[in-house]
Amino acid sequence: MTHGRTVIRNGLVITAADELHVDVLIDGERVVALAATGSPEARAWQADATIDATDCYVIPGGVDAHTHMELPFGGTFASDTFETGTRAAAFGGTTTIVDFAVQSVGHSLREGLDAWHAKAQGNCAIDYAFHMIMSDVTEQSLKEMDLLVEEGVTSFKLFMAYPGVFYSDDGRILRAMQRSAGNGGLIMMHAENGIAIDVLVEQALAAGHTDPRYHGEVRRELLEAEATHRAIQLARVAGSPLYVVHVSAEQAVTELAQARDLGLNVFGETCPQYLFLSTDNLAEPDFEGAKYVCSTPLRPKEHQAALWRGLRTNDLSVVSTDHCPFCFVGQKDLGRGDFSKIPNGLPGVENRMDLLHQAHLDGHISRRRWIELACATPARMFGLYPRKGTIAPGADADIVIFDPRERYTMSAATHHMNVDYSAYEGRQVTGRARTVLSRGAVVVDRGEYLGHAGHGTFVPRATCQYLH
Ligand SMILES: [Zn+2]
Repeated sequence: MTHGRTVIRNGLVITAADELHVDVLIDGERVVALAATGSPEARAWQADATIDATDCYVIPGGVDAHTHMELPFGGTFASDTFETGTRAAAFGGTTTIVDFAVQSVGHSLREGLDAWHAKAQGNCAIDYAFHMIMSDVTEQSLKEMDLLVEEGVTSFKLFMAYPGVFYSDDGRILRAMQRSAGNGGLIMMHAENGIAIDVLVEQALAAGHTDPRYHGEVRRELLEAEATHRAIQLARVAGSPLYVVHVSAEQAVTELAQARDLGLNVFGETCPQYLFLSTDNLAEPDFEGAKYVCSTPLRPKEHQAALWRGLRTNDLSVVSTDHCPFCFVGQKDLGRGDFSKIPNGLPGVENRMDLLHQAHLDGHISRRRWIELACATPARMFGLYPRKGTIAPGADADIVIFDPRERYTMSAATHHMNVDYSAYEGRQVTGRARTVLSRGAVVVDRGEYLGHAGHGTFVPRATCQYLH
């Protein structure tokens, strides 16, 4: 499909590297040229369509490297399908997601990956790629890792939590890390000591502590820090890189900082919920705290300063959403009277770009760092750059015209995610995606959806571009 030639004029183009007053020429699905606004070159461009970006930023589409559309969890499924979730992502200025295909115990990686391809294919509004969750590290699945790397699924998530479901013991983790050291894959780790957490869950419930806030209390900060430390040491022994997902505790950031000070290929990710929400939300009365149950859990507010610092020092280098929505009515409900049965996860794929822009306005990060954390670094980390994550000749025309002055209130009444609450209900933010292009096609314009299911295609990925 071609979309002809489009020119975006008069905007401020912001990438991780530059802020430039340039116009952007798109031919079909790709960016073909940039030239200074008003220059003879830019003025000479002939185009079928012109987008005026006066007073707006022109930024790369967001790359959300951590989503779980339709994830089966705790006897139910994440409420966003690939269709509804990617449409909501587009509204929020995100044009690529990397979702997690799941290997179930007793099954091959291939079966899991095929199942996720079947869920996504023909349904996505924007481009998508996959990581592979390994729940069953066996001789066979280790061999399959090599094949997946070759076909563009170049990262593998392991869990030190959720015994009996996703959990891998240290021996299995070490084997997978050794394999990835040889095939170029990147190991992503859910770093919490799930064996110890399960003991504390059992004790809390026996003591009658059943409310959502106990979810946060039993998943102790020290058990995140311990697992993070252990994962780093195992990766050193294996000689493999490591990417720690959804870091929430200050003590875990300290572990990452120490590893990075040693020059190791160790990377950290955090999520907007850990930056903007806290255990105060988990303690909301009348079971409302269930809306904020996710793992790793929200932490006391004091941890946020360490996360912001980590984002500035690059000890944390990516902000993804871990988008995994469950409706309050009918899904989060499953855990009334037993916090351990509350499905784990929050909605957020639509909110990330705007929340991080607000973080810039609040003085936490620079404008270019906003783009680096949300677009460029996730693209580089997961082998999508420079096709995704920047605006440059040859890159996919995944571009957002972002109005930095539009003020609005986040709410379930107006969001596009298929979930009956917003984790950020009532929060006012300044700045919003006005027009969103995916491979040259306008998919969202001024609150109107112009895309279609099936526009988004699977993107095979190269290996991590940060390894030394
Ligand atoms: Zn996740």
